[in-house]
Order: sequence, then C-alpha cells, then structure tokens
Amino acid sequence: MKQEKTDILIIGLGLAGMTAAITAAGTGKKVTIITKTKNLSSGSTPWAQGGIVYKGLNDSTEKLKNDILKAGADHCWEEAVDHLCKHGPRLVKKFLIDTLGAEFDKKEGSLSRVSEGAHSEPRVIYKEDQTGQSIHQAALARLQQLDNVKILVDHTAIDLLTFSHHSTASTDIYKKPACFGAMVLDNKNDQVVAMHASKTILASGGIGQLFLHTTNPKEATGDGVAMAWRAGARCFNLHYIQFHPTALYHPSGRFLISEALRGEGAKLINSQGLEFMKNYDSRGALAPRDIVSRSIHTEMLKDETDCMFLDISHKEAEWVFKRFPTIYKHCLSKGIDITKEPVPIVPAAHYSCGGVGVNLVGKTSLKRLYAVGEVACSGVHGANRLASTSLLECLVWGYFAGKDALESKDDDNYFPPLASWKQGKGLIDKAQIAQEWYTIKSTMWNFAGLIRSQSKLHAAMNILRNLQSEVEQVYQSSKLDKNIISLRNGAQTALAIIASGIESRESRGTHYVEGR
Ligand SMILES: Cc1cc2nc3c(=O)[nH]c(=O)nc-3n(C[C@H](O)[C@H](O)[C@H](O)COP(=O)(O)OP(=O)(O)OC[C@H]3O[C@@H](n4cnc5c(N)ncnc54)[C@H](O)[C@@H]3O)c2cc1C
Repeated sequence: MKQEKTDILIIGLGLAGMTAAITAAGTGKKVTIITKTKNLSSGSTPWAQGGIVYKGLNDSTEKLKNDILKAGADHCWEEAVDHLCKHGPRLVKKFLIDTLGAEFDKKEGSLSRVSEGAHSEPRVIYKEDQTGQSIHQAALARLQQLDNVKILVDHTAIDLLTFSHHSTASTDIYKKPACFGAMVLDNKNDQVVAMHASKTILASGGIGQLFLHTTNPKEATGDGVAMAWRAGARCFNLHYIQFHPTALYHPSGRFLISEALRGEGAKLINSQGLEFMKNYDSRGALAPRDIVSRSIHTEMLKDETDCMFLDISHKEAEWVFKRFPTIYKHCLSKGIDITKEPVPIVPAAHYSCGGVGVNLVGKTSLKRLYAVGEVACSGVHGANRLASTSLLECLVWGYFAGKDALESKDDDNYFPPLASWKQGKGLIDKAQIAQEWYTIKSTMWNFAGLIRSQSKLHAAMNILRNLQSEVEQVYQSSKLDKNIISLRNGAQTALAIIASGIESRESRGTHYVEGR
C-alpha cells in the first residue's frame, strides 16, 4: 500500500476547504487538498445562486443575529451565531474581496445589496445569479498560486485513519481517540493510498443526494458524516434538512429555480392550472420555504402527480430574460421556455443544518480532526437556516479551522503503524449499485422527507439497515471503486439521519412530524 505524508490534509474543494487551505498554507506548512471529482469545479459552492451575507447600510451585528436566531427555530447555539456575526462581514471584506479579489455586483461604485426571505435588512451581496461560481473561481485561482498546496482531483477519501481503528499497535486503543489522516482511493488507477496528516480537515459538503429530489450536485452523498460517524466523532442535528420548494423537474436532473421568481409574481399551479397555495397559507406562494415545500408535496400526493408547476409566463418575455438569465437559459436548454409556459417543479433536499459537531474553530470531538462548511454542525443554523448564511459559515469556520490547525499542537506527531489494505476481488455490479441508490433515495424521500412520523422513520430504519448490511458485504468483498465508497457512505449517513429523527421527541424547524 502506498503511503504519503502531509502536514494538513483537507477533504473537499468547496469554499470551506479552500478557505481552510489558503489560511493554513500561510506559514509554509505542507497542505494537501483532495476532491473526489475529476474537475476542480466541484461541490455545491459553484452552484450557489443567491449570494452571501455581508452587512446592510442600516445593519448591525445584533440585527443579523436576531434574524438567524429566529430562522433557527430557537435551536441555534448563540455563541456560534455571535462568532459568525462578529467575524463574517469582516472576513467577506478582508478575505473574499481584498485577498481573493472575488467579484460582486456594484451600483454607482458600491456593492449592490439585496434582501432575502426572513432577512430584516438588504445585506446579501451577489454576482448576477452566479455568486458561488465567482467565489469558487477566485479561491481556486489563489490556491493554485501557493507552492506548498497540493491539489489532488479524482481522489476519494474512504475512511478517516484513527488510532483505535487502524493502528496495529494493540495498546493504541487506550490512547485518546485521534485522527491521523485518511485512507484515500486514487480513482484513476484504483490504488489505495494511506495519507498521513498531523491534522485533517473534513470539508466534504452536504447530503442532498440521499433524497429522490435534490438541488445538490452528484458528489453530495454525505461522505463526511459517514466517515466521521464510523471514526467515532460526535454528529448532531442531522435530522434538520432544509428543502427548497422549487427545483426544475426534468429527467436530466433537478436545478434550483430561485425564490426570486415567486417574489416577482410567479404562480404555483397544479396540473389543471389552478393556484393552490392559498388553501394552505394566507401568504400564498410567498409563505416560508418549509410551508411551501410541504404544501407542494401534499398537493402532489393528492393529485397523484410527479410535479407541480411554476408559471411566470404572464410577465413580459424581455423582462423575464433580463431578470433571470441563468434560469431562462437552463430551462430553454431542456426544452422549456419560461416566458411561454409553466415550469414543472418539485421540492428538493437543499441543505443540511446538522453534521459533525464542532466548536468555534471547527474542532470535532476527535483529536486532530476538524470539520468545516456544510458537513459540520457549528450550531449556527439551529433547526433551520437563514438564506445566504451557509457560504458565510464556510468562510468563517474555514478560516478559523485553517488557523487553528497551524497553531495547536494536539500531540500531532504520532503516526501509528498500519496494516496494509486488503483489496477484495469481486466485481461490482452497476445494476445493484443503481438499485441500492434508488432504494435509499425513495425511502428517504417518502419516509424521512418533508413530512415525517415515528412509524415512517422506523419503516425507513428497517429498510435501510438491511440495505446497509448488503452494501457492507459488497464493499468488503469487491475490488474498491468510487461508486461503492459513495454508496456505503450514503447508506450510513441516511441511517444516521433517521436515527437522529427517531431520537428527537419534537417537531421543530425543518423536522416536521405529523400530529406533533
Ligand atoms: C443550488 C444551490 C444554491 C445555493 N445557493 C446558496 C446561496 O445563494 N447562498 C448561500 O450561502 N448558500 C447557498 N447554497 C448552499 C451552499 O452553496 C453550500 O452550503 C456550500 O457551498 C457548501 O460548501 P462546502 O465547502 O461545505 O462544500 P461543497 O462546496 O459542497 O464542496 C464539497 C467538496 O467535498 C468533496 N468531497 C465530498 N466527498 C468527498 C470524498 N469522499 N473524498 C474527497 N472529496 C470529497 C467534493 O468533491 C467537493 O469538492 C446553495 C446550494 C445549492 C446546492
């Protein structure tokens, strides 16, 4: 088995991982950052449309804090919210704009700001409807200039290396649990590499692909939570998953259709062309995200249809094109002209508020392991997320974790002896992988999705426990590839979400339980 060594290993090339890498590289330490995708553009970061929270012209730390606490349904960790509000806007200016040179739209020389749902001030800055793309490119360009940072594409982390799981020195089991790197698959040649690291930073993004419908990219299969769970790091709030009401329903996949369309008067209609939202909430199509999502879901079940529709065709075509260029072009490329016809939409899993539990500098309960960005649970989002705070969280926790990984010692020089990797010989059946994924996605959608109950969650648990056992057998006996690694992680994280939902005794925020 090949073995490599680095000072700081970062798993994930989104905003959180890149911010940590740029910060940690500051003093010349050797930093390695990996992504399982073939391309450098990966994760949800480049997909972010709306923007990132900065500060409004009449804004204050207190106002932002109150908005976050309110959205979080009385479940946020106040210290984490204070940390975000204090450092977030400062880092947007100092790190994103001044250091990375990320571009944002301006009006008469100053940054344009917009308000979004549940924000009391216009404080969100943006670059057209491609904010994530602009930020991702700027961070990547900076990273590529740093000689001490090695970027590895097409490398999938399999598991975190820990004293208790991987050391062949039997008495290491008595040491305080710690992580000393990760076992990684080089997807190009299917070779397993043990990457030793003094510190490891998990920045592997979200979990959207565990659900039938999601706005997230293909790589969002919950790998980070699964790896941390197996390694024994504490994870929490996993059952708080935010669903977006309107994703394009098309065989080629889902695509986020921004809330701004409804803000501009787009109507939500059923297959008979009738508006239905007023039957559920007096605010109609502009009710909060979770209410609109559940109403669409209920209407789909009632009508026995696969989607509902969003209609903005009553507006002037020229205006629609100018206001929503990306959405217009994307839908047109799928054969739907939004200026002439309604868009088929479904609600879709969008953001994981829970994850691997961390403190204010991203440290997990496992020594030498950090988690940042969507994979982590910093406590900022509580039971529901305020729009455009996730990129901000990536920035703040990425920055502080990168800094702490440099400065804190944490006995980080011990690297135990490792047993070499035993490769199975069996061949993986792609049809089986597709079938198992379908089971995970439909089970999570129907039993652990928008509307839950204890009995549905228990049914999901039964189905997925059996599935996990089958997947584990295939994983143990087959020649490893990236698909079985993702499936194994997907099964594990799905079960962790269900367990978290069953343990919760209440209906709160995004965790909506019938009859509670
Ligand atoms: C369509 C859409 C629109 C959004 N709009 C906004 C918005 O306007 N404002 C906002 O604040 N937030 C928005 N969000 C949320 C926000 O984009 C994400 O929460 C954030 O980008 C997550 O960043 P991250 O760095 O944690 O992870 P990501 O950007 O998701 O990156 C994860 C990285 O981990 C890698 N990875 C995963 N597993 C492995 C593994 N096993 N081995 C190696 N690498 C691995 C991936 O390849 C990827 O490089 C949006 C999300 C979506 C999907």
